[in-house]
Amino acid sequence: MQRIFHTSQPMQTHYTLIVAGTGFASTFFLKKYLSKAPASARVLVLERGHLYPHAERLKELRGEKTAYAGLNPLPDDTFINHNPKKEWKFTTGFGGSSNCWYGCTPRFLPADFKLKTLYGVGSDWPIQYDELDPYYEQVEQIMDISGPANTPYLRKKPYPLGPHAFTEVDRLLQAKYGNLYISQPTARARQAVNGRAGCCASAVCYTCPVNAKFTIENSNMGVYDDPRVELVYGAAVSHLDLQGSVARAVHFTQGGKARQVSADAMALGTNALFNANLLLNSGDTNAFTGKGLGEQLGMHVLVYLKNLANVGGSTWVNANGYMLYEGEHRRQHAACLMEANNAPYLRVERGKWRDIATFRMIFEDLPQDRNFVATTSDPMVPAVHFDGPSDYALRGVASMKKTLPGILSCLPVEKIEFQEPFPTEAHILGTTRMSASASDGVVDKHLIHHQYRNLFVLGSGAFTTYSPNNPTLTLSALSLHAADKSF
Ligand SMILES: Cc1cc2nc3c(=O)[nH]c(=O)nc-3n(C[C@H](O)[C@H](O)[C@H](O)COP(=O)(O)OP(=O)(O)OC[C@H]3O[C@@H](n4cnc5c(N)ncnc54)[C@H](O)[C@@H]3O)c2cc1C
Ligand code: SF4
Repeated sequence: MQRIFHTSQPMQTHYTLIVAGTGFASTFFLKKYLSKAPASARVLVLERGHLYPHAERLKELRGEKTAYAGLNPLPDDTFINHNPKKEWKFTTGFGGSSNCWYGCTPRFLPADFKLKTLYGVGSDWPIQYDELDPYYEQVEQIMDISGPANTPYLRKKPYPLGPHAFTEVDRLLQAKYGNLYISQPTARARQAVNGRAGCCASAVCYTCPVNAKFTIENSNMGVYDDPRVELVYGAAVSHLDLQGSVARAVHFTQGGKARQVSADAMALGTNALFNANLLLNSGDTNAFTGKGLGEQLGMHVLVYLKNLANVGGSTWVNANGYMLYEGEHRRQHAACLMEANNAPYLRVERGKWRDIATFRMIFEDLPQDRNFVATTSDPMVPAVHFDGPSDYALRGVASMKKTLPGILSCLPVEKIEFQEPFPTEAHILGTTRMSASASDGVVDKHLIHHQYRNLFVLGSGAFTTYSPNNPTLTLSALSLHAADKSF
């Protein structure tokens, strides 16, 4: 494990760069920034929580005592949710939600970046697939992604690790659909690599018992060991001093005391709920700040099979299906990505225990201004308003229910059961959307605020539209791109 240095409070009053948060967005940004910055650079990282080491998390799961339990704020205590039916999931503390994520890392498809041009819906992103491709590749190398040789999107090099093994059902679907049905690209390592164990498909990835999934803690990225970096724990950023076209200082509280530091440049990596709250607390008047909060809509489908035991597979989410994804239907309704779920799922019928396949159907969405983050009287606690997904996403669900039986006709299907949508996909998107100009978004393609030109607003808050794919590979690639092109 990398050593993680930290100081109890900032040693200087002015820095070259201040970064808020230590999740994927901040850490990948810092990785690229530090590769380019001079030896004289001084970087301050302010982290609201603390390091809660993986080994200590396992102790807590085993019911053993650990001094770390309770050190980090409970996520649900950090915001006010105005829609109890809708959940927003994340982890606070060093590494953010890398501690609890599941490691699904498909790339976006090129079409995801230009829905307006291709299908007349949503907006185009100001950055396109080809520009992001080298940064996707760098993130995949750092995370040691396991993935297949052929994918529905263009890749110039093979994935660092080979693909996970298919189940019986995966094999039949791949035989029929070729590159539209692939072993899932994933940060759940196919084999032992870089201090991580090989994934053994135990499907409890929230805290992986064998440390197989990539996390910031096990990443060996070296960012927080760099002598130019000071990491301060327990430092919750509340707002910035914004003047004219510049962000001048960062305000934070630590141990109940209000503190302030200034910097030449700043980067917010506190996720889409808190980045927006920080900007609003600071008086940002961009019309889109806080608006368009959303994520994908997901639901399970159970497929009961006649005399086909769905055995095999080597990880939790085993495969991705793109049969309902790309095409002219996106003019009318959302694309859908299929995830083949390989968690132990038994059919409660004698002799048919394994004659079942489960798929998570994940629908893209478009940002709605009625879904938003707003400030409250407590600067640390945003209010989260979510009125529901768009009709575009809901029409995607209705269409899938009609077309899925045909898609699965190559399997011996006995019955298909559609379950209710999940209350969350555990992704938090929008609120600081990326756009070509300030008239239709908050940040430019380098994640720099349209008005405050030394302020980076990182993470999936910048997503212009919500591809069905999991967001973290893309938000990490955007962080590398931002730091590479801006310094
Ligand atoms: C259960 C679960 C499973 C998931 N599975 C997947 C998956 O398989 N694939 C995928 O692509 N994505 C997945 N995600 C989503 C993924 O975890 C997020 O996209 C990703 O973590 C976002 O990274 P981030 O760095 O922007 O934010 P975060 O990971 O939320 O990190 C934010 C950081 O900022 C800190 N912070 C917050 N507020 C402040 C403040 N005011 N001052 C200072 N620091 C602050 C936090 O402590 C944290 O360190 C999953 C999420 C969850 C919850
Ligand atoms: S499936 Fe099991 S071994 Fe693989 S990442 Fe998840 S918890 Fe770890």
